[in-house]
Amino acid sequence: MAKIKRIGVLTSGGDAPGMNAAIRAVVRAAIHYGCEAYGVYGGYQGLINGEIKKLKSKDVSNIIQRGGTILKSARSTEFRTPEGRTRAAQVLAEHNIDALVVIGGDGSFTGARLLIQEHNIPIVGIPGTIDNDLFGTDSTIGYDTAVNTAVEAVDKIKDTASAHNRLFFIEVMGRDAGFIALRTAIATGAEAVLVPEIETDLTDLERFIEKDYDPTRSSGIVIVAEGEKEGGAYGVAKKVSEAHPEYDIRVSVLGHMQRGGSPSAFDRVLASQLGVAAVDALMDDQKSIMVGIVNKVIVHTPFNKTIKTSKGLNPELLKLVRVLTSR
Ligand code: ATP
Repeated sequence: MAKIKRIGVLTSGGDAPGMNAAIRAVVRAAIHYGCEAYGVYGGYQGLINGEIKKLKSKDVSNIIQRGGTILKSARSTEFRTPEGRTRAAQVLAEHNIDALVVIGGDGSFTGARLLIQEHNIPIVGIPGTIDNDLFGTDSTIGYDTAVNTAVEAVDKIKDTASAHNRLFFIEVMGRDAGFIALRTAIATGAEAVLVPEIETDLTDLERFIEKDYDPTRSSGIVIVAEGEKEGGAYGVAKKVSEAHPEYDIRVSVLGHMQRGGSPSAFDRVLASQLGVAAVDALMDDQKSIMVGIVNKVIVHTPFNKTIKTSKGLNPELLKLVRVLTSR
């Protein structure tokens, strides 16, 4: 393979705190290896539209602490078509860009894999999503910050819940995965957690709440992932309040605040490590992998494996919620 000289970097799918730290690391590592770095603005759609700019080291100064992504992110329906991807490949060729680093989630990597298959462009992925639902890394960039944001918000809600003896159903992000919900529940001492991976047993939940929650004397918190199958926090709260009209129930949906904010130190370090690891992998002739960290070691996972394999919640952590709410 000809030596890689020009590396493009883009952010795709949902944004996540720490993406900027990853962009910075990719740009600086590329320069370190004597390559040029190019920022692609607006994800795959920006690539198709040719929105590309050379990035120098100073262009990524003072961004490590910023949430969002300086390259912007987008969802592109055009890139889902072979014609769209052919146009994307042409744009890369016009700019003499020999390789790409894609920072995003499994949808972004599915698209990347097709671009590699159809146009033989080396691409390395960096897991950037608050959901943590990618196989091949213990933690995705943005997950730690999102959990910290959710925990801070739940702590505040707990104060008011306890002042009024209320039972709160708090919805956190996670359409398909309960990682944020589970960690937040443990860190806030919640009464229960409901996640998309496990069918909600309302009878069991009610029994659990009855044991822990006395509407005349106590408060309670149940963390519900967005993708919970009874309809999220509103759906579950409705059913519980029908069964227990005596409960003082409130719902709070934390929403997009979980995506924003300054990345945690953990996410900044992770993003820095993975940004450099991605460029290292390209220098090593890798062309269809995601970089991740498993048990503190950098690992390469083929895109097809990370896309097809489900990561799964840690059963030990699920058990922990039950043990720690025992009375
Ligand atoms: P997040 O997990 O944060 O939502 P994601 O990378 O999974 O991130 P998606 O919206 O699923 O986010 O995908 C981002 C982009 O990747 C899409 O807008 C589309 O351009 C491209 N993409 C996703 N799936 C495919 C596919 N099957 N074929 C081609 N391109 C795809």
